[in-house]
Amino acid sequence: MSKDQARKDIQRLTAEIRRHNDLYYNQQQPSISDAEYDRLLEKLRQLEDEHPDLRAVDSPTQKVGARVKDGRKAFRTVRHDVKMLSLDNTYSMEEVRAWYKRIRKTLGDRGVEFVVELKIDGVSAAFRYERGKFMLGATRGDGESGEDITENLMTIPEIPVEMKAGVKDVPDLLDVRGEVYIPRERFDALNKSRLEKGEEPFANPRNAASGSLKLLDRDAVSKRALKVFIHSFGALQGGRAVHDQGQFLSYMKDLGFPVNSSARLCKSIEEVIAFCEEHQLKRENLAYDVDGVVIKVNSFSQQEELGLTQKSPRWAVAYKFPAQQATTEVVRIDVQVGRTGVLTPVAKLQPVECGGVTISSATLHNFDQVKKLGIRVGDRVLIERAGDVIPKVVKVVESGNPSSTVFSVPQRCPECGGKVMRENLELVAYRCINPSCPKQLEQGVLHFASRLAMDIEGMGEAVVRQILAKGMIKDLADIYSLKKKDVLGLELFKDKKTDNLLLAIENSKSRPLSKFLFGLGVAHIGEKASLSLAQRFKNIDRLMDSSLDELIVIDDVGHVMAHSVNEFFKQRSARLLIEKFRRAGLSMVEPIEIVGGELQGKKFVFTGVLSGIPRKQAEALVMRKGGEIMSSVSKNTDFVVAGENPGSKHEQARALGIMIINEQEFREMVHD
Ligand SMILES: [Zn+2]
Repeated sequence: MSKDQARKDIQRLTAEIRRHNDLYYNQQQPSISDAEYDRLLEKLRQLEDEHPDLRAVDSPTQKVGARVKDGRKAFRTVRHDVKMLSLDNTYSMEEVRAWYKRIRKTLGDRGVEFVVELKIDGVSAAFRYERGKFMLGATRGDGESGEDITENLMTIPEIPVEMKAGVKDVPDLLDVRGEVYIPRERFDALNKSRLEKGEEPFANPRNAASGSLKLLDRDAVSKRALKVFIHSFGALQGGRAVHDQGQFLSYMKDLGFPVNSSARLCKSIEEVIAFCEEHQLKRENLAYDVDGVVIKVNSFSQQEELGLTQKSPRWAVAYKFPAQQATTEVVRIDVQVGRTGVLTPVAKLQPVECGGVTISSATLHNFDQVKKLGIRVGDRVLIERAGDVIPKVVKVVESGNPSSTVFSVPQRCPECGGKVMRENLELVAYRCINPSCPKQLEQGVLHFASRLAMDIEGMGEAVVRQILAKGMIKDLADIYSLKKKDVLGLELFKDKKTDNLLLAIENSKSRPLSKFLFGLGVAHIGEKASLSLAQRFKNIDRLMDSSLDELIVIDDVGHVMAHSVNEFFKQRSARLLIEKFRRAGLSMVEPIEIVGGELQGKKFVFTGVLSGIPRKQAEALVMRKGGEIMSSVSKNTDFVVAGENPGSKHEQARALGIMIINEQEFREMVHD
C-alpha cells in the first residue's frame, strides 16, 4: 500500500472511530457492535504499526482510558513520580509576614528574592514530556496519584503535543504543573447555552473547568475551550540549566508553554505585599478568576535548604484574597418582567461595599430560589459576587421579621396586571401570559434591535420607550413601517439623527436568518441555537414547515428548544408576523458559507435532475474539494442536493433532518 493511501485510510478510520466514540459516550446511541468497533480499532492499529510515522499522538489507538464494555470509561490512575504538593494558605498580610519570619530563621540574613504569581482559580494538572513529546497528563488527585486525562489535556490548544522543530534546549524529561481554567467570557457563554438546553449551570469557572476535564469524550472537552498557565515542575532533566523560578518561567515560555505574564520578581517582602495589594484590586479586570497570589522563594538552592513539610513546601505560600462577600439588609423585593414575560425576583439591598464596589441589588434567580432561601424583606443576607456576574444572595444570615411571610409569586404581572402562570412543571419560570404586555414588547423590541440580533443602531431604551408610549408600533414588524415624520416627532430627533435611524432599520432587513431568529426571541432559543437552526433550514419557510423530529436531531437544539420552536410557528399570530416581516422586505435567509469552498469530509447525496450542470460533473466538483458522494441518505449525510423531481431520497432527508439544498445553493457552495 502506498504511503498516501495509508495516510488516507488512517484519516478515514480515525474520523470514523471518533464518530462512534461520540455516539457511544455522548449520545448513548452506538450504531455498531463492540466487535465491529474493535475491528475498526484493530485495522487502524495495524496500519499505524506498518507506518509508525503516521501515528498521531492523539490517535484513538493511543487512547488511554480505553472504552470498556459496560459503557463506562474510567480514567486510569497514575502515580506522580514527584508528589504534587499543595501550598499553605495565608489570609492576611500579618500571616505573610509571619511566613517570612519563619524562612528568615533558616536563611539568616542572607539576601532572598521572591517570585510572585497570580493564583489562578482553576484545576491543577501535571504534564509529562519525554524528549519534547507530550506523553502523559494527569489530575492532581491526592498529590500522590491522579487520573490519566492525557487526551482531555491535549484539547488545550496552548499545550504543545510536540515541541516545535525550532525550539532549543528541549529537555529529556519534563514534568510541568499548571492550572487549567476557563476564562470568564467562555464560562458565561457555556452557562448560557446550558440554560438554553435546560441543563443546570455551573456554579463557577473552576467547577466548569474541573467538570470539563472529567468528560469522557475529547471532542466534548475541546468544545469547552480550556486554557492553562504553567507555573512549576516536578522533574526537569536535560535541556537548559535553570537556577531559579524566574529562569524556569522564561525557559517554559521559550519552550512554547503559556506562562502568566503578571509574574514578578520581588527583592523584598515589602514588594511582595505591594504586589498582593495591587492585584487584589486588579483581579476584577482580568479575563479569568484569580483567588490569590502564590509567593515563592526564587532561588532553587534556597528552596532546597528550606525544604518541605509532609504536605507542602516551606519555600512557598499562597496569599488568598478576601472573599467577595458581604452582608446587608433586604429593603424590598422587586419583580422584573423580561421580554418573554418571565418574572425575575430581585432583592433591593441596603447599599454595601463588596470587593471594591457598592452593591444595591442582587438577583434571586427565580421564585423557587426565593422559597429555598426563605427570604423576607428586612432579613440580613449574605451576598456574593464573582467576576462581572450579577451579585447573588447566598443565604439569610439573620431573619429581620420572622413572623412575616416569605415573599411569594405575584398573582398578577407587576407591569400590566396580566395573569401569571407557571410555564411548565420542570422549569422554574413564571410568566406574564398577556401577549400585549407593554413591558414584554419593550424588552422584545430592545432585544430585536440589539447588536447580536438585528443590530439596529440608535434603537435604544429611550427611543423604544417613546415609540411605544406614542403607540407607533404594536409588534416587532411595525418597526419597519416607522415613517420619517413619526421619528421626527421623538424627543431630540433632528433630520440627521432621524435619517440615521431609518437607514439602520432599512439595513437590518438583510440580516441573516440566524440573527433574525435570535431577535424574534422565541423562548429558549439563544444565539447558538438560532445559528444551528438557520444553518440547517437556510430560510424562514423551511424552518416554519419543519417537523418536531427534524428539529430534535439538530446539534445544539435540545428537546425543550425543539418544542418551543415548533409551538411558536404553529401559532397563527407568529405566521402572520412573519408575513408582515416579509412584506416589509426582510430576506430571512441564511447565506450558505463554506470557507474557501472546502468541503473536506462532507458527505453529499444527489437526487433529482440538475438543470445547469451534469450530475457527474457536480459529483466530481464535490470530490475535488474533499467531499464525498454517497448513494443513499443516512444520518451521516451532510447535504442532499435536490434537483427537479427529487425522489424518495428527498423525503428521507427531510425525515432525518438532513440539510437539503437546491442546485443554485449547491453551486454557490462550490463556487461554480
Ligand atoms: Zn405583563
